[in-house]
Amino acid sequence: RFITIEGADGAGKSTVAARLYDELRTKGWDVMLTREPGGIEIAEKIREIILDPKYVNMDKRTEALLYAAARRQHLAEKVFPALAEGKLVLCDRFIDSSLAYQGYARGLGIDEVFAINQFAVEDCMPDLTLYFDVRPEVGLARINATKGREVNRLDLEALEFHEKVREGYQIVKDRFADRFIVIDAERPADEVFAEALAQLEARL
Ligand code: C5P
Repeated sequence: RFITIEGADGAGKSTVAARLYDELRTKGWDVMLTREPGGIEIAEKIREIILDPKYVNMDKRTEALLYAAARRQHLAEKVFPALAEGKLVLCDRFIDSSLAYQGYARGLGIDEVFAINQFAVEDCMPDLTLYFDVRPEVGLARINATKGREVNRLDLEALEFHEKVREGYQIVKDRFADRFIVIDAERPADEVFAEALAQLEARL
């Protein structure tokens, strides 16, 4: 099973992902936790390029292609083998991030970005997607309160950009309603985790 975790910056995705991983493992699932963009060396290097605050001039299409390239390598090297072994794969961000960020918020078009990603993923789509929904002002406030978090190129975007990301996710969620589970991520962390776990277990 391939489960993806999606949401805006500051939604608390990574924290919940780590807790889900621990909980599922304790319960006996053979699970792998990974993240995008990254998870393996080539993709982590691509991630560094994409997120480097000095590349303010990065072209939008270049950005979308780099995400797709990182995604491909991560699938080929890490996700496909794990799925073939029958593992439950938990992936922090996947194709829906590209559709919301590059497709919608950057204005490249959801269909266009989906097309280049189809080349990268072939027919590997998530079985289930946990979407952590948070208003951008809440998410960004959380990020600003997190000490030691490295500033990335996206942190320099205005609030309007992050509002568009959220709108993008709403569209993507409706398009893939059969695999999307929406979780209100503005609640306290323990509640968000408990709901994510319950929703996931109900479908596993
Ligand atoms: O969630 P994570 O911290 O790994 O994401 C790193 C950064 O990359 C975030 O600021 C996120 O908004 C951005 N991102 C993006 N487009 C994607 C995936 C992530 O702009 N397709």
